[in-house]
Amino acid sequence: MKNLSSSFVNDFMAQLEERNPGQGEFHQAVREVVSSLVVVLKKHPEYQKSKILERMVEPERIISFRVPWLDDHNEIQIHRGYRVEFSSSLGPYKGGLRFHPSVNLSILKFLGFEQVFKNSLTTLPIGGGKGGSNFDPKGKSTNEVMRFCQSFMSELYRHIGHNTDIPAGDIGVGGREIGYMFGQYKRITNQFTGVLTGKGFNWGGSYIRPEATGYGVVYFAAAMLDVHGQSFEEKTCLVSGAGNVAQFLIEKLIELGAKVITMSDSGGFIHDPDGIDRGKLDWICDLKNVRRGRLEEYADQFPGVSFTSSDPTLRFNPMWDIPADCAFPCATQNEINDKDAQHLLTNGVKLVCEGANMPSNPESVDLFLEHRMIYGPGKAANAGGVAVSALEMAQNSARFHWPREEVDRRLQQIMRSIHDTCADAADTYGTPGNYVNGANIAGFSKVADAMLDQGLV
Ligand code: NDP
Repeated sequence: MKNLSSSFVNDFMAQLEERNPGQGEFHQAVREVVSSLVVVLKKHPEYQKSKILERMVEPERIISFRVPWLDDHNEIQIHRGYRVEFSSSLGPYKGGLRFHPSVNLSILKFLGFEQVFKNSLTTLPIGGGKGGSNFDPKGKSTNEVMRFCQSFMSELYRHIGHNTDIPAGDIGVGGREIGYMFGQYKRITNQFTGVLTGKGFNWGGSYIRPEATGYGVVYFAAAMLDVHGQSFEEKTCLVSGAGNVAQFLIEKLIELGAKVITMSDSGGFIHDPDGIDRGKLDWICDLKNVRRGRLEEYADQFPGVSFTSSDPTLRFNPMWDIPADCAFPCATQNEINDKDAQHLLTNGVKLVCEGANMPSNPESVDLFLEHRMIYGPGKAANAGGVAVSALEMAQNSARFHWPREEVDRRLQQIMRSIHDTCADAADTYGTPGNYVNGANIAGFSKVADAMLDQGLV
């Protein structure tokens, strides 16, 4: 048996990188997990003997397909669709679809890999997967979005099913896109099943699913603050993103007495020193969800607000250089680098809790942990969305709806339990307060044991 030391991580990664060249985001996600797991593998030689980790980093199945569609000028457009079915050890594949021009296999494999651990932490019976396309819904007409979604589903439908693989939304895929894809699935298969989650409430959706990721992040962060005898009352918060996760996260922060002073989209960020209140948030939701406009317009609408355009030539994001107590990255991967992390620390930010998946790069995570920041990694903190998706599946199977309060109560309970599970695992393995290790170890152990039970498949 191999001598386990830090060289284990490097050897493992060298092999992974050789087998998966050019997939930087996937390498990054795996390296973080493997680094946390050395202590577990030392304690459990049976995992090594059965090559559990080696099997876990290889998706069970990857599907890639052509998505042709006609734009409003009758021009043919061709995009690429994917579904990465990563692990079905704990249940059917479950994870979102992302429509964004940056989508490629590396990004979907990192997201799918993280999803396996996240779904395991929820304690619900769901495996992990992720999919999407390099299609950009921004700037497309509603009819174009519908035609794209229908073409995408015309291929995807044969690979998914309510007992096989149940996609949901992610960046660029909200209620509108889920509706068009569900309609096409139903038309092709002649079946009304819970094959997608994030459905409209009138046709199979669950209460609190739209809110779940954002609310869940705040519940997780509140549990972390609670350990330190603190609450959100009077805390000043930086939030990035202006989409589904950011909107509901801010709603919950306002409800708990915090003051949110920033938001961002791909064009830049707004800084509102007076705080985004309920009325201003409603205005933003209408801007982003109905009018599909740019956040820049907020600065023209409300006095005392500044807008700073994104500047790709800068080595840092000035938004993370504003004094605050807490920071919630809710846009995309690697949006916080070491320089941003240094700014957060210098400016007195005490808590970073991730709504987005892998928004902090490895150097910034090291800085957070080194300086004992209260740090909640996305894998654990943003699991509320998929957890309520699993509750949507349960309600679909039973053909009824739980009331709003019931779903919210379950979400709170799940987030509390994920927090405690991560904290306990971090304690058990000698790194108290390190939620990164806690999430990776606790998420891994359940999947690993299921794989041992299910034999070499
Ligand atoms: P949305 O598409 O609703 O919103 C994304 C927001 O982030 C938009 O404001 C968008 O700007 C901004 N954004 C996206 N990509 C970039 C980029 N490359 N640079 C700058 N800004 C960017 O997505 P969600 O809110 O659903 O997802 C946000 C994050 O949360 C993602 O990391 C996702 O994986 C994660 N997540 C989402 C879950 C969910 O249930 N929706 C569950 C768990 C995690 P613009 O408006 O200009 O496009």
